[in-house]
Amino acid sequence: MDIILRANGVGLTYGTEQAVSNADFTLKRGEVAAIMGSSGSGKSSLLYCLAGVLPPTSGTVTFDGVQLSHLPDGELSALRRTRLGFVFQYGELLPELTVEENTALPLRLAGISKAHAHVMAGQVLKRLGMGDLLRRRTSKLSGGQSQRVAVARALVHRPDVVFADEPTGALDSVNAAAVLREFLQLARRQKTAVVIVTHDAEVAAKADSQYTMSDGVLTQRVAA
Ligand code: ADP
Ligand code: MG
Repeated sequence: MDIILRANGVGLTYGTEQAVSNADFTLKRGEVAAIMGSSGSGKSSLLYCLAGVLPPTSGTVTFDGVQLSHLPDGELSALRRTRLGFVFQYGELLPELTVEENTALPLRLAGISKAHAHVMAGQVLKRLGMGDLLRRRTSKLSGGQSQRVAVARALVHRPDVVFADEPTGALDSVNAAAVLREFLQLARRQKTAVVIVTHDAEVAAKADSQYTMSDGVLTQRVAA
């Protein structure tokens, strides 16, 4: 099956606030999908549902043929850990760990030995131009460097899908463009599908599919 992720009629409400309404979404293996939309339109909420972080109030999310709501909690978190990756707006690294340790975390959690995990982390970090800073604590990095580590950590275990929620929100536009370009290149090289929330129209234009979120309603933009 070519479809790795599918949402059917997904809705999410917080109390009386309808953050996402009836969203349909499909993602093929290796596809890059961009979601744009103003602040408060429901982009993060949709991502949480797609990634199995929050159960939708209505509708279904299916990952590789399995409906997420049918999975017991333990299996869902194992799936998130092994087959999904995440990049957030502010990186969210562990400041006391080194670049290499932060990047290796998903592998260590999957039971891979420290030595092997660090070799794999080093390879991804090198691709992202961070090969000289492996032993540095991430509390000592610049914003752009931190974001590269967050990207490396999200891709190191070669997940099927990476969810990136405004992944360069904390960077100036030059740095943001560079990090995003490398992120998408690396994802494509290892055939990881990406769902990226971005304000950057140039990044969105490079994606395979484009969506807009407005007042909780997701609309696919059709190429002109
Ligand atoms: P975006 O990521 O596009 O900025 P969000 O998904 O964060 O939008 O938010 C969509 C709507 O849901 C907003 O009106 C926001 O205030 C509301 N919202 C988000 N998270 C919560 C929450 N935990 N509790 C209540 N309302 C929330
Ligand atoms: Mg958001």
